[in-house]
Amino acid sequence: MILLTSTKSKCKKHKKTCLKKSTCTKCQQKCLKTCLKKCKKKSLKDYKKIAIEVPKPQGVKNVPSHIYFYLHKSFTKEQERRIRLGISLLLDRWYTHHNQKWNGGTNTGISDLAACTNLYATKKLKPVWAKSSVPNGIAATNLAMNQFTQLIRDNGFKKSPPATIDPRSSTTIYAPTASTKRRVPLSLQINPKQLNGQALTDLDLSGSITHAWLHRAGWTDPKVTSYFISECPMCVMRNLTPKNPNVRDSSYYKFFD
Ligand SMILES: [Zn+2]
Repeated sequence: MILLTSTKSKCKKHKKTCLKKSTCTKCQQKCLKTCLKKCKKKSLKDYKKIAIEVPKPQGVKNVPSHIYFYLHKSFTKEQERRIRLGISLLLDRWYTHHNQKWNGGTNTGISDLAACTNLYATKKLKPVWAKSSVPNGIAATNLAMNQFTQLIRDNGFKKSPPATIDPRSSTTIYAPTASTKRRVPLSLQINPKQLNGQALTDLDLSGSITHAWLHRAGWTDPKVTSYFISECPMCVMRNLTPKNPNVRDSSYYKFFD
């Protein structure tokens, strides 16, 4: 059993890292007790540690070989396979973006993901932590993929708290919006029922995880047409092809939370 001990916790009255640290560190004294109670219930012995290989893009330094997740033991083998695949597809998209942007060393390339997103994303291009404005979908995509690099580094080099993947009974995949850039765990909640069958395709799954990661990277909803947090993952789901007028956006963003 791995104990959740850490001296990094900002909760002064205790030294345990809460798996819901983002909530815990914001706790005032009043809610600290409740928060601690919740933390105690969650022990890593209920989880299986999984490692996912991280490809190394050109022009990006300091990339860990793997990222790690604590997958709740209630997920089946097949569900685990799909979760791994969904995350790997996202990592491939991130990898290709950086390679295309690197463009043989100029670092001024426009990736296919950025070009696709730029066609459709016009609203809420800016993450919550950004000070300056973000002019267009290309800049927003570059910023998001750089922040994914940060999340990957913090996870792979164990700078952030353990990332857990928990089951949930509604929607598809959920993660709250993070307000800071550093040490943000890549924790997710995934509805296991949605992973059974192919109503949710592998591309849909990867797009849904991308939406959740964008929340961890600081972007906010609404999860509808024109908003960056929706259009960027929808490009992933369409495999970067233009929109088909006969397919409603809602058939994609119904998989977002
Ligand atoms: Zn959302």
